[in-house]
Amino acid sequence: MNMKLTRTLSTLLDDPRLFRQHAYVNGKWTHGEGGREEAVFDPATGEAIGHIPWLEAHQIREAVDAADAAFAHWRALRADERCERLLAWHDLLQEHREDLATIMTLEQGKPLPDARGEVEYGASFVRWFAEEGKRTFGETIPSHIPNAALGTLKEPVGIAALITPWNFPLAMITRKAAAAMAAGCTVLVKPAGETPFSALALAELAERAGIPGGVFNVVLGEPAEVSKILCAEERVKAVSFTGSTRVGRLLLEQSAQSVKRVSLELGGNAPFIVGPDMDPKEAAFAAVAAKFQTAGQDCLAANRILVHESIHDEFVEHFAERMAALTVGNGLESEIDLGPLIHRQAVDKAAAIVDDAISRGATLVAGDQTRAPGENYFMPTLLTGVTPEMKVWREENFAPVAGVTAYRDDDQVIEMANDTEYGLAAYVYTHDIRRIWKLLRALEYGMVSVNSVKMTGPPVPFGGVKQSGLGREGGITGIDEYLETKYYCLGALGSVSGS
Ligand code: NAD
Repeated sequence: MNMKLTRTLSTLLDDPRLFRQHAYVNGKWTHGEGGREEAVFDPATGEAIGHIPWLEAHQIREAVDAADAAFAHWRALRADERCERLLAWHDLLQEHREDLATIMTLEQGKPLPDARGEVEYGASFVRWFAEEGKRTFGETIPSHIPNAALGTLKEPVGIAALITPWNFPLAMITRKAAAAMAAGCTVLVKPAGETPFSALALAELAERAGIPGGVFNVVLGEPAEVSKILCAEERVKAVSFTGSTRVGRLLLEQSAQSVKRVSLELGGNAPFIVGPDMDPKEAAFAAVAAKFQTAGQDCLAANRILVHESIHDEFVEHFAERMAALTVGNGLESEIDLGPLIHRQAVDKAAAIVDDAISRGATLVAGDQTRAPGENYFMPTLLTGVTPEMKVWREENFAPVAGVTAYRDDDQVIEMANDTEYGLAAYVYTHDIRRIWKLLRALEYGMVSVNSVKMTGPPVPFGGVKQSGLGREGGITGIDEYLETKYYCLGALGSVSGS
């Protein structure tokens, strides 16, 4: 382990103990027994900021043993007792917001204000589910069986494996873990190798919040190896994954053998539809906000911007002007809008997508990559004349690349918007109520946001249709992913009048 670099990161934190470089299993900080480890890099500078161990297969199974042993105790607590501990965890996340944001910016690259926003967002799910855990009501069923009482109980499903991505290193964990833990489940979190330190800081704070050992575990290792073990393990009853559709398919297949509960939050390819009645400037500013958050590495990023032909040219002008004002640089510096991409491969992929579009006839309006402040950066790019054969239309570009297409009428834009295997989120900008209703009904997406860039948060059911996923997170149904319904029939009770 490189002590010099460890000290460097630690010196940036008020509480250096939040920076951990071990797995967290059964309430203990754990080394890998096989000597395998992985470096974690600051994408802004390319420098290693720390290392994490890779656990061996038997250590992953021991983590399952620990989660299994802890389940008996955790599920037996009253819902209000679990709520207290989750609220204590929430309060610690708030208290250590600055340190958590610093860790996140260093490992993920997003600007500090965005990282602070993610800590708030992540903590808000802990509070939400702490409360929701107290409302996992069963039902009373009017009986069709003589002298019987019928109803349902809600019970925790068991151990949940939570596999999460690098673009939201903290909130994608809490949105799952808080729901599972409030339901009475114990969890094994497998964070992305690019961003493990946010997950480990969460573990440190879970311990301080009095969450017992074995309830919240962070397992680290070679991704395919760890996931394979967790999906094959019969004692793991639920797998919840956020990440690419490619890996989601794989996990669904691997979980089939033990018939697990599987929740998938996968990729998106969001259309951003602008109606002919819109003020082109207002719509362009909103589209820039919906495109460039987290440098475009966001499953909700506006991927295909579809603008009515009557206002297309004006829209493009305003978009380019607004885009030109975005600042790109190290997220630790002030006044930065876009940090680096997660690594060099992401930059190469973005460049290939732009080249593909230009070779198929798109126009590059802006996006001078010679101005990039470092090798992991990609300058905001605007393409017009985008068509369905281009990668920028077909693939989730996950980069600050905006593609604009003009359309003729509502029917055509509905067809265009739905022309993708994805179905996570769509944006609609128009004030025409008939058009709003028509699009809302016709768009094949799990979430449709009308005249608002912001759409997520604890009270709403987040999730996609088609190949964007299975299940919903957040809202009043998010906890159901971690609950079983047990039906009961109490027979031979005697008649009401005679009993
Ligand atoms: P990814 O699928 O590459 O990785 C996600 C997780 O899977 C990581 O923990 C990774 O280590 C693990 N993994 C990678 N390869 C694996 C394999 N072969 N077997 C098992 N596990 C493996 O995704 P990413 O690049 O980290 O994240 C970006 C993707 O996540 C995008 O597609 C984005 O749209 C999606 N995402 C979706 C949502 C949502 O809520 N729908 C939210 C955020 C991100």
